[in-house]
Amino acid sequence: MSEIFVVIEHRLGEIRDITYEMLWKAGDLSEKLSHTVTAVLLGHEVDPIAENIKDRADKIIIYDDERLKNFNADISKEILAGLIEDLQPEITLIGNTSWGAELAPALSVKTGLPLATDCIDIAFENGKIIAQRQMYSGKIFSNVSFAKSDGYIFTIRSGVFPKDKTGDRQAEKIQKDFPAPDRELKKSFVEFVETAAGDVDIAQADLLVSVGRGIGEEENIAIVKELSEALNGILSCSRPIVDKNWLPKYLQVGTSGKSVSPKVYVAVGISGAFQHMAGLSGAGTIIAINKDPKAPIFRTAHYGIVDDLFKIVPALKEKALAAKKG
Ligand SMILES: Cc1cc2nc3c(=O)[nH]c(=O)nc-3n(C[C@H](O)[C@H](O)[C@H](O)COP(=O)(O)OP(=O)(O)OC[C@H]3O[C@@H](n4cnc5c(N)ncnc54)[C@H](O)[C@@H]3O)c2cc1C
Repeated sequence: MSEIFVVIEHRLGEIRDITYEMLWKAGDLSEKLSHTVTAVLLGHEVDPIAENIKDRADKIIIYDDERLKNFNADISKEILAGLIEDLQPEITLIGNTSWGAELAPALSVKTGLPLATDCIDIAFENGKIIAQRQMYSGKIFSNVSFAKSDGYIFTIRSGVFPKDKTGDRQAEKIQKDFPAPDRELKKSFVEFVETAAGDVDIAQADLLVSVGRGIGEEENIAIVKELSEALNGILSCSRPIVDKNWLPKYLQVGTSGKSVSPKVYVAVGISGAFQHMAGLSGAGTIIAINKDPKAPIFRTAHYGIVDDLFKIVPALKEKALAAKKG
């Protein structure tokens, strides 16, 4: 019986959500393929992590060593490549995260196994394994098939599968010794730097008004901030706004920013790329203002205004202020 490997992602002792999501998908695939689910856990003092996921896997292979305390793609690649050679899993799942972006391509080269990155689903058609991906900010879905191989590696996008935290499996734990790499490692961990917490926490906000690249210029952000204040909400943003240094990182919503769960989320000039929407899975009502009727955000938004934000945002602000005055 072949195996499905899930590379367990954790940071500072906390299991990342992507781990639960991959374990869910591995469980789903294992039922269809009659494969077993093997969690591969690299780290130091990782017993609590293994305990936490033991009902979601059939086997947990644990490498527990001081040298694995912090993620190092170089070491992880060496260990995983050896394990893949030994156990020949048909499928290896890795998070499409900063970990996975570093690890998966190097692992693919080292093992010679094909890799599909940023997958939103994995399926089987006529006995062939198919990875589903998105292109052009979610406007196009593509199905990727592979030449026949002994195994396949996939990186999985955050937020696409349920993150059920309980299951009915009973994993056997297998401790392995840290294998000394047969070459000098090129990378070493230097320090972990927490991102600035900032003076507001968008994750706690009930109402967020979020600004995206459609705002055009930095000075225009003021109109969106004024709308957020008129609605007694908090300003947040998409990643390009942070990349341009127009707003601080702690206001960014999305996979590389924060996951938020406001009752109301107003997206202004935001296209709705998956990485942004993944941060909104806990949001209540989503209202989108975008001049492009084909913007992907309208697939998720509960209410949409197809118009120029420079017309709509000031008008909404006036309405909100008038409503406040009674
Ligand atoms: C690894 C990785 C992680 C990422 N993490 C994140 C993340 O955490 N958060 C995130 O947001 N992104 C993230 N991204 C980037 C993401 O893929 C998108 O590029 C980004 O979300 C797009 O931001 P946007 O919607 O503001 O800009 P765009 O996609 O450029 O959309 C701008 C929108 O504004 C509309 N518009 C333009 N002018 C007007 C106007 N006058 N009136 C009304 N509408 C107008 C346009 O029609 C368009 O839909 C990540 C990408 C990668 C590769």
